[in-house]
Amino acid sequence: MVICTFCKRRDAVYMRPYSGEKLCAKCFIGSIENKVRVTIAEYEMFQHDDKIMVAVSGGKDSVTLLHILAKLVEKFPKSSLCAVTVDEGIKGYREEALKFAVKNCRKLNVEHTITSFKDLFGVKLDELVKTIQKTRTDDTRGLTPCAYCGVLRRRALNVAAREAGVDKLATAHNLDDETQTILLNLLHGDALRIARVNPVLAESHPKLVQRVKPLCEVPEKEIAFYAYQRRIKFQSVPCPYASTALRSDIRLFLNRMEEKHAGIKFTLFKSVEKIKPALEQAVAETKLRECKFCGEPTVGDVCKVCQILQTLNIIG
Ligand code: SF4
Ligand SMILES: [Zn+2]
Ligand SMILES: [Zn+2]
Repeated sequence: MVICTFCKRRDAVYMRPYSGEKLCAKCFIGSIENKVRVTIAEYEMFQHDDKIMVAVSGGKDSVTLLHILAKLVEKFPKSSLCAVTVDEGIKGYREEALKFAVKNCRKLNVEHTITSFKDLFGVKLDELVKTIQKTRTDDTRGLTPCAYCGVLRRRALNVAAREAGVDKLATAHNLDDETQTILLNLLHGDALRIARVNPVLAESHPKLVQRVKPLCEVPEKEIAFYAYQRRIKFQSVPCPYASTALRSDIRLFLNRMEEKHAGIKFTLFKSVEKIKPALEQAVAETKLRECKFCGEPTVGDVCKVCQILQTLNIIG
């Protein structure tokens, strides 16, 4: 049996290829919580009295984040934690995920809000996808359901966080998500959007709630193992639209690279940190205004959400 490199007492159950550490279950759990604590401190994500809202989809990352933050927040009596789940309207997937979100919030005694695309935008994602398939135009050709879903979900989360009057909105983006997004933006020719791959997204408009990503330096595989070790229950069925995305190919590519060259995801993430000041400067020069239809912050006259709804003849 291999002995844990940390405590040198218990049997190791996890081996980290990028560091060579071999960890027992207890030290593994402690190392993940510590990593999150260090990330939060390094990027100054929270104040001691912050009201924090966690975006909980019901999947392993968001449920794990909720469990870790619930533990950390206990030490800061002036801070508070609540959660929000966005129901996109994806049949056969969201209902189940919602149950896991509800169960975990109940277990941790965290106040939980549910918001939906249908209530906010008058359309479910399933309906939107069907309409896009029927009415493909030059504007919508090549866009995947995830492209629409992402835009609408970001809006839904911001509205929910703003209405709840919280200081921070915590999302469960992990190291894999962040490195995939870096490559995705480069491959889409959207290099400036890499500035959004940021552990803390600065408020650039009073209507935007600051977003933080406490899991951004934790690999997806380690989040899954943490959840398994702590017997956290989550939705494991993937979204039916997920495989249509270019992101899936990038995920496979990065995982293959990581297997051959351990630590490469972290190196990519940290490389972007180095060029971020230049990117942020370029982005800061783009002033946000308010959309002429819905009044939400946007770079142009009309925000992305209204553009999507217009293309589909839902508004305007
Ligand atoms: S996989 Fe795509 S469509 Fe499904 S929930 Fe995620 S972003 Fe939305
Ligand atoms: Zn140990
Ligand atoms: Zn708008």
